[in-house]
Amino acid sequence: MIPAASVPLIDAFGRRITYVRMSVTDRCDLRCRYCMAEAMTFLPRSAVLSLEEIAAIADAFIARGVRRIRLTGGEPLVRRGLPDLARMIGRHLSSGALDELTLTTNGVRLAELAQPLADAGIRRINVSLDSRDAERFRHVTRWGDVAKVLDGIAVAKAAGLQIKINMVALKGINDDEIEPMLRWCAAEGHDLTLIETMPLGAIDEDRTDRYLPLDGVRRRLEDRYTLVPLLERTGGPARYARVVELDARIGFITPLTGNFCAGCNRVRLTAEGKLYMCLGQEDHVDLRAVLREGGPDALDAALDRAMAAKPFGHDFAIERRAPAVARHMSVTGG
Ligand code: SAM
Ligand code: SF4
Repeated sequence: MIPAASVPLIDAFGRRITYVRMSVTDRCDLRCRYCMAEAMTFLPRSAVLSLEEIAAIADAFIARGVRRIRLTGGEPLVRRGLPDLARMIGRHLSSGALDELTLTTNGVRLAELAQPLADAGIRRINVSLDSRDAERFRHVTRWGDVAKVLDGIAVAKAAGLQIKINMVALKGINDDEIEPMLRWCAAEGHDLTLIETMPLGAIDEDRTDRYLPLDGVRRRLEDRYTLVPLLERTGGPARYARVVELDARIGFITPLTGNFCAGCNRVRLTAEGKLYMCLGQEDHVDLRAVLREGGPDALDAALDRAMAAKPFGHDFAIERRAPAVARHMSVTGG
């Protein structure tokens, strides 16, 4: 008999799951307007998985053929001991069981943490940066200091990390900054990914006011530059293109104007151990309960249950105005 641990994770639609996003905290040191309300209630600390529990869940996934893990949040860099967790998971990089360990961050604490994370085996990070203008950045994040983020990005680059900038396209806020951001990224050697706002979780404003469809953004860029579509897909929602004149790479994440569910290869773990099989649906398996009641050996069967329950896809629609799901992106992990 083949041991369960060597059986790959395949869902009911024949999709193989090789990528897991793990939220290490739901807390954040910023309050981006499209992501969170200003007053947020965060999880009590006892509800949050310990670093050891997160590492045990990562081990179970890796044993079942997961090749890439992304640490996210909330803001992962506010979780104390994050470099320790990166080292615990990172040991699978040296053994060859894991291809990549990455991180999505707002960059505020990167200056102090980039080197320890690089030492743990992280090679690529995504940094969210919706504006390089100090005032606009402060407006979008409610109190963030863009200088800290830019400094963090510089330190991360010096530590040898490859950087992708995530920019949420916001009508009337940063639409005029998309092209300058692309040119800056090209000059710095960073990739740029543009993201459409997704209807996740209640915020203090109406997202439809800021929703900027990326098909129009792309057409405007194509008036000035040659965008050659790149075939590479990550199994996620991003589509990439090479910007010939700038020798740069740009990605478009279009959950609302382009559907990508058929090729989905991922699941997401929340900071409290709920495994969501789809960002846009409520189905989940409580891995914290499984782990605390049955120990690491019980995880395998729970992963099989999760595979059987993975829905085909989301049904986001910006017109609905109410959030498609009540969970904030910071809970499920962006
Ligand atoms: N705090 C980290 C950061 O900002 O990069 C990691 C978590 S954050 C939830 C991950 C990504 O999700 C960020 O790039 C953020 O801009 C994006 N995001 C958050 N809420 C979103 C929403 N409602 N629609 C689209 N993107 C969103
Ligand atoms: Fe925090 Fe990231 Fe959400 Fe901004 S997008 S509030 S940085 S979790």
